Amino acid sequence: MLERVRQITQEVNRAENTQQALEAVVLRVCESLGSEVCSVYLADYDHQRLTLMASKGLNPKVVGQLQLDFHQGIVGLVAQREEPINLDDAPNHPNFEPVEDASEEAYQSLLGAPIIHQRRVLGVLVVQQKQRRKFSEPEVNFLVTLSAQLASVIARSESRDQITAPVSDPHAIRKLKGFPAASGIAIGEAMVFYPPADLSGIPDKPAKSISAELKRIKKAFQLAQAEVIALKSRMENTLGSEELSLFDAYLNILNDNGLKRDVIAEIEEGHWAPAALRRAVDQHIRVFETMEDTYFRERSSDLKDLARRVLVYLEDDRTARPKLTKASILVAEEITAAMLAELPTEKILGMVSMRGSPTSHAAILAKALGIPSVSGFDNVPINNFEGKELIVDGYKGLLFLSPSEGLKHQYEHLIIEERQLTQELERYTSKPAKTIDGKVIPLLVNTGLMADFEKSLHVGADGVGLYRTEIPFLLREQFPGEEEQTRIYRSALEAFKGKSVTFRTLDIGGDKQLPYFPIVEDNPFLGWRGIRITLDHPEIFLVQARAIFKASRDFPDIRISLPMVSSVDEVDEAMRLLEQALYEVNHELGGVPREMPEVGIILEVPSAIYQIAQIAKRVNFLSVGSNDLAQYLLAVDRNNTRVSTLYSYYHPALITVLDLIAKECSEQKIRFNICGEMAGDPMAAVLLLGMGYQGLSMNARSILKIKKIIRHFDSAEAKQLVAHVLSLEKAKDVHTFLFEVLENKGLGGLIRAGK
Ligand code: PEP
Ligand code: MG
Repeated sequence: MLERVRQITQEVNRAENTQQALEAVVLRVCESLGSEVCSVYLADYDHQRLTLMASKGLNPKVVGQLQLDFHQGIVGLVAQREEPINLDDAPNHPNFEPVEDASEEAYQSLLGAPIIHQRRVLGVLVVQQKQRRKFSEPEVNFLVTLSAQLASVIARSESRDQITAPVSDPHAIRKLKGFPAASGIAIGEAMVFYPPADLSGIPDKPAKSISAELKRIKKAFQLAQAEVIALKSRMENTLGSEELSLFDAYLNILNDNGLKRDVIAEIEEGHWAPAALRRAVDQHIRVFETMEDTYFRERSSDLKDLARRVLVYLEDDRTARPKLTKASILVAEEITAAMLAELPTEKILGMVSMRGSPTSHAAILAKALGIPSVSGFDNVPINNFEGKELIVDGYKGLLFLSPSEGLKHQYEHLIIEERQLTQELERYTSKPAKTIDGKVIPLLVNTGLMADFEKSLHVGADGVGLYRTEIPFLLREQFPGEEEQTRIYRSALEAFKGKSVTFRTLDIGGDKQLPYFPIVEDNPFLGWRGIRITLDHPEIFLVQARAIFKASRDFPDIRISLPMVSSVDEVDEAMRLLEQALYEVNHELGGVPREMPEVGIILEVPSAIYQIAQIAKRVNFLSVGSNDLAQYLLAVDRNNTRVSTLYSYYHPALITVLDLIAKECSEQKIRFNICGEMAGDPMAAVLLLGMGYQGLSMNARSILKIKKIIRHFDSAEAKQLVAHVLSLEKAKDVHTFLFEVLENKGLGGLIRAGK
């Protein structure tokens, strides 16, 4: 039976549209259960109706016509109860309502199962049989299992249909939920960016002349290399040297020891050049894909993109390349950094990448360039997007296709509000984040990208509360050495001269995979992450620590924070390594030895909360990493859209824990701040102020909003608000309460434009 379910699901997956999928289902279910009738009804919430969409066995004339009210008949009962109903004498059931022209009286037994996706009844799957009998348990299980599998297929397929539906179709929702990749809102026409050439379609053919093919391929590689060099120099004024190093990685792929060598080997085997290219790329990608991790998959898309460029030269056909002639929203199966560099970025209003996660290279660059972006949409055919009007909501990860005028107006209004807000907030740039009663709260930035520095300084950040050192590591082809790291850290220190900078030691693992250091785990967020990796690899930790000490030789105001600490052993071991690195650097550089800068931990693993007293004896400060703390406390994967509604900063448990941390830190007399995204959330910031957090570190785009918030509150008032919020039981009550508080102070605009 399981095999049957799998086969049906696969067939349904291959269907071109929902209707075709449903027709396949009814046929296959009848075959599998030997029943005379199988029907699928789909729910239409606008009209509160269930429509018979496909049937094997019922009169074909009623298919598409028959509509039941949500609570009508046995089908309605299945939908209402949200559980299967198994009847051996359906016509005598009180809810039985024979449908005209459907000859239903002839069927004695009925088994119905609801099709539910994310708590929503999408429809009902029904089988009927003339013979009077109860369906067996394996049969019921089969239908229930199939319905559960079908639910996500139907949901996906419906979203696909909605995209292709004519603009005039009022039922097409055309709202897709993905990941927010870079914040902001964009409205505009879609420009689908196709790969330069379709590598996968190339047939195998023998080379007519091996020497001629070799000449051709070498020339194509040369041109592709020149193209990447040109792209790099075009981006030089827009991106910092760290981001630009991505192009060096591309050049490495194209050089003599990379892909080219393998393509040449394939030609020498007798293949014509395009197939040799495809075969070599496939080999590399197969290796990457067996590794099953995001960063390798992202690397394989970079590789494919580069190979396609070579192919274009090989085919000598550049006319088919899409051009960005007017400001548009860029849509691609997967937006790669190379693609981004090829286009005039000033004309990119927003970006939609079907694949990719918030940590993909393109997302990192999009953030740096300030382009609103969304990513991660399953099974959405991008070919249908060209020229369509889109709204990209990079705050919520939403994408709207051919939006209604009403929705467009709402978003246009938001953009205007956002612009006005930005202008209005400018006046806070040089003002301190001081409460009405005179308490100053340092506002710091979370960064790691050079492209962010200017913005951070412009908004008057008091320093860097979290320098994510893994970002420069992610943008390279191999571990940066001590000298390179020293240069990177020094450029950050120079940019923030006179302000404090907290370097977090390498925090990789989980969803942050280095392409050159693959970690394959079943449960990466509970696995080898952050300090766990660097303690297991002291050579990596020591090189980084030495680089930080060297870079900060002339910059006394630096701090070091340790990610993912779950026990004091880790703190002790990290301190020992830091001491060793400092000793070595002092010895190497001579002169007045520098002292150990302040060291702290990122408090993001729940176990550390209960060891604050012990940790406080060992370090100088604690910085709450609420992004991960929420993930671990609520047991919700921070990157999983399916459970994203459960991930909330306003969850009373999280608020209680944050308050507890604040109280415990005060008792232990250790300094504490917060560096998770919630510090940049206007409503959450009020609570953090009330709890006594001594610094808020956030995304540069949030600084001015939070400054305004702080300047409108009195610290005693914020404390009272915390006391009330701690008595609330649900996240939504906390949200509603805080929303009203801010609205009443005329600060509601800060929430709307930016959450
Ligand atoms: C956090 O977990 O809150 C944090 C600041 O770090 P990151 O988001 O980089 O894991
Ligand atoms: Mg973290």
